[in-house]
Amino acid sequence: MSSDPLVGQLDFDPVALKQKYADERDKRMRPDGQRQYAGTAGKFAAYGRDPWADPDFEREPIRDHTAVIVVGGGFGGLLVGARLREAGVTDVRLIEIGADFGGTWYWNRYPGAMCDLEAHIYLPLLEELDYAPRHRYSYGPELLEHSQRIGKEYGLYEKALFQTSITEATWLEDRQRWLLTTDRGDELTADHMVLACGRQSLPKLPDLPGIDVFRPRTFHSSRWDYGYTGGDSEGDLAKLRDKRVGIIGTGATAIQIVPEVARWAKELVVFQRTPTTVGVRGQCETPADWVDRSQPGWQKTRRENFQSYLLGLRPDKDSVHDGWTETLDVLIPETTAALAHRLGREPSAEELRYFSEINDYKVMNGFREWIQDVVDDPETAEALTPWYRWWCKRPSFHDDYLAAFNRDNVALVDTHGQGVSGFTETAVIVGDEEYEVDCLIFATGFEVAIPYKRLAGFDVTSRGVALSEHWRGQVRTLHGVSTDGFPNLFFVGGNVQTAMAVNAVHLLDELSQHVAYIIAEVRARGASSVEPGPESVDAYVDVIVHSEKNKAAFQFFAECTPGYYNGEGNAKTDEDLFSGGRYGDGALAYYDLLREWREAGGMEGMRFGDLETNEIRG
Ligand SMILES: Cc1cc2nc3c(=O)[nH]c(=O)nc-3n(C[C@H](O)[C@H](O)[C@H](O)COP(=O)(O)OP(=O)(O)OC[C@H]3O[C@@H](n4cnc5c(N)ncnc54)[C@H](O)[C@@H]3O)c2cc1C
Repeated sequence: MSSDPLVGQLDFDPVALKQKYADERDKRMRPDGQRQYAGTAGKFAAYGRDPWADPDFEREPIRDHTAVIVVGGGFGGLLVGARLREAGVTDVRLIEIGADFGGTWYWNRYPGAMCDLEAHIYLPLLEELDYAPRHRYSYGPELLEHSQRIGKEYGLYEKALFQTSITEATWLEDRQRWLLTTDRGDELTADHMVLACGRQSLPKLPDLPGIDVFRPRTFHSSRWDYGYTGGDSEGDLAKLRDKRVGIIGTGATAIQIVPEVARWAKELVVFQRTPTTVGVRGQCETPADWVDRSQPGWQKTRRENFQSYLLGLRPDKDSVHDGWTETLDVLIPETTAALAHRLGREPSAEELRYFSEINDYKVMNGFREWIQDVVDDPETAEALTPWYRWWCKRPSFHDDYLAAFNRDNVALVDTHGQGVSGFTETAVIVGDEEYEVDCLIFATGFEVAIPYKRLAGFDVTSRGVALSEHWRGQVRTLHGVSTDGFPNLFFVGGNVQTAMAVNAVHLLDELSQHVAYIIAEVRARGASSVEPGPESVDAYVDVIVHSEKNKAAFQFFAECTPGYYNGEGNAKTDEDLFSGGRYGDGALAYYDLLREWREAGGMEGMRFGDLETNEIRG
């Protein structure tokens, strides 16, 4: 259909495709952006309640001191606890709102839940615990079980406080320690505090007209009501046999839920605003030799190999070899060097951008063709077809999602980009149509890119200044792990000025090792506190703010279909999306930056406090 000296003969028209993408994006743009959602405060409070905890749980308030308090018991908090232990710091207390460890995998027990990355690179501490995941992509129960395994093996249950949330944290300058209060009346002090409150731990709900009068059973996917559906996170949703179930959302969570509910419900109606790109997953049990685990450092090596692929570095061997890397194999068929060789000159930035855009069209055309092959009804297949670039929404991989729409009991209601418009007492309204349901599941995702105070539910105060004030207008960190004026405070997770990482646990592990190193080093030096100097924070923030790669990435996402990657299409800067921006050179460069800083040994940019003299040393 078109030919171009740079990209050769094409069997599609890139100009028409680009226009189609823009039209589809425009259809979905809404002036209220992120405001179309509400969190689990106020009228939605019931949606945030913990279905897995004992509501009658009580305990006496505690007043004591711990070397390190970690807020959050997800993989981030667990990794901090584990890496601290390895560094010789054993007096660690994890505090968690839920009734057990697991974080994401404690809350998200919906049927079909599983990680979307190969388990051998996603699950933390596999090498240390000599554990081999049972499936290529672990299911929710195994992920929760693994969280508990880490808690047990690293002795983190001993001092853990569950069903407890922090209400306030204040730095006591004269005593060089943190004072934390909780909703259970605890008064806890700690030399160091690590915030590992996650990034996607607050459910969000569509605040639509009629939601207050809607009577069918409703719940958010991360607070699954097995009392209503029957079964458990392994399946067997027998109580849905006579029910008409609705699901709002077709993102990464819904992709996993739909095939499970389809198996059990009398009818399933899926309300879609924007289809997700769904590739082949190739789920299977993993034989003992799936990965050669005899090589020391195998998990780190495998994670880095995967990350290299994502960055287009194309190492010699594709160790993980799954939907992610296979897609990237097509997406990045020629490196810049190879393209330069073919052209006989250096390609310009504009040529590279165009080249990658064309490859993206090719990749997405492949996915689009696959939908036509799998989904029988042409109208449904068309509605499930994504019209945007591959990275615009987190790509999904699933073996049963698309085929679920071939079942007689499953219907897709395509809202043509507009979303559900509201509710009557018994029905979901889309445009002029009403859809009666017995039960409605909100697979509507989580609040992201929100300020830390909102995410964690409490503010942190040091020297009379609240962190929310300190960061007003500009998040300030050194390496995304600490900030000036807040001694002995560390951030792990939340993506605050760290790197964009598809493998969130890889990032959490690198951060945990870094924080554990700093805390152990401070203790070894006999200092009472550590904090980055303002000049080192300024320098790091400068790197983030002036990164050309960040600007290019922001431009890319700005042109994408609305979603959480681009603030529902309304983000004004990269900082709007990633809590203060990201390290633009990518995850591997960021990990190198942290490692090299540690290896230099000088704790560059850090200042130490001395309790005896109450002086700060640079
Ligand atoms: C459904 C789902 C699937 C995902 N799948 C993948 C995947 O396949 N691959 C991937 O890389 N990433 C995935 N993610 C991202 C995932 O969140 C990370 O992989 C990782 O589990 C995050 O760990 P975390 O400890 O940083 O945060 P979380 O797991 O969110 O844990 C944070 C914990 O902090 C607790 N907390 C928050 N505030 C307080 C407070 N004030 N007091 C006490 N406790 C508090 C919360 O209750 C929560 O349990 C997924 C996320 C979701 C929601």
